[in-house]
Amino acid sequence: MAAKKQGGRCVVVGAGIAGLSAARTLREGGMDVLVLEREATIGGRMSTLTFSGGVFDHGAQFFTVKDERFQPLIDQWTEHGVVQDWFHSQLISGGSSNPDGFPRYCGTEGMSSLIEDLAEGLEIRTEADVTGLEVKGRSCTLTLADGETINADAVILTAPVPQSLDLLEKNGLQVNKRDKELLEGVEYSKCITLLAVLDTEKSGLTEWGGLRISGDYIDWIADNHLKGISEKCAVTIQTVPEFSLDYWDNDNQDIANRLLDNAKALLLAPAIDWKVFRWEYAKPLKVHPYSHIAVKGAPTCLLAGDGFQGYRVEGAAISGMEAGQSILRQFS
Ligand SMILES: Cc1cc2nc3c(=O)[nH]c(=O)nc-3n(C[C@H](O)[C@H](O)[C@H](O)COP(=O)(O)OP(=O)(O)OC[C@H]3O[C@@H](n4cnc5c(N)ncnc54)[C@H](O)[C@@H]3O)c2cc1C
Repeated sequence: MAAKKQGGRCVVVGAGIAGLSAARTLREGGMDVLVLEREATIGGRMSTLTFSGGVFDHGAQFFTVKDERFQPLIDQWTEHGVVQDWFHSQLISGGSSNPDGFPRYCGTEGMSSLIEDLAEGLEIRTEADVTGLEVKGRSCTLTLADGETINADAVILTAPVPQSLDLLEKNGLQVNKRDKELLEGVEYSKCITLLAVLDTEKSGLTEWGGLRISGDYIDWIADNHLKGISEKCAVTIQTVPEFSLDYWDNDNQDIANRLLDNAKALLLAPAIDWKVFRWEYAKPLKVHPYSHIAVKGAPTCLLAGDGFQGYRVEGAAISGMEAGQSILRQFS
């Protein structure tokens, strides 16, 4: 059944899981929505990359569902056949495939299956970098890096917290004093990620193809072929925060050599091709206690994302949904 049309147009900044969850909630509530994403592709930290025949989950590897507010999204993804139950254990190196009862989910063709499903039917503009924001009562004006301006009645910002705060500050906007203190305490770990196509059909990672190592260099390694998303043997290696900090400025070749050498007992074959990525804001270590907040004096201009309340994919999705509901309540 078509949702009753509500007045107002909301612009959502960021096409990660938080932004898309917010946009869907708004659209299902009958509001006009436009999503602006500065990168050329959508998904943010839930993206899937392809090169040299390998398919890689690049950021988030899997997610859990511990909060019932997230369940409707899983139900939708299940109905659309885009989510799969990957494993139920901690996959810790040293032999634990200890079932702990929580399914770890991923997309059937990588995390981007889930993102594309959420994005279906939404108006999304990529390569739209929001650099300006002016808010007067319920009238918001966003400016893009190329100078174009876009008007809206409401805005939801879903970039990592330091980036949203920076955007506000550059445009003379603030959050209230208490929120400012809490948001300044929101911290993210950094993560260097190596993606490599291996010269073999199968790596030495057995069972589900994922392993939490938490060593000096490597935190997590996954074989995307065993995960079921890549025809070729393609591995994702994510480093521990200490390595990421120590080697952040090293050149990519040096980083790749170190990680491939460190993981060689698991990889069993040399890399045919590889790429190194740096995530400045990987996972939140501390979050704001609410699911979203408003800009001071501007109740229709909200901040949301994984820096709010919940952590990670699940937290980001809930934050986006609740921010969307908050806007809908104001326009009903
Ligand atoms: C290496 C790594 C591994 C991870 N592993 C897991 C895991 O296994 N399980 C898990 O649950 N979570 C994991 N996470 C965390 C998870 O990916 C994030 O918590 C979640 O995806 C955050 O979603 P989000 O929508 O809040 O932010 P993002 O995905 O960062 O989306 C924000 C979007 O806003 C865009 N943007 C920013 N500024 C602007 C602007 N000015 N104008 C327009 N667009 C803008 C960005 O380009 C981005 O696309 C991992 C993250 C990383 C990096």
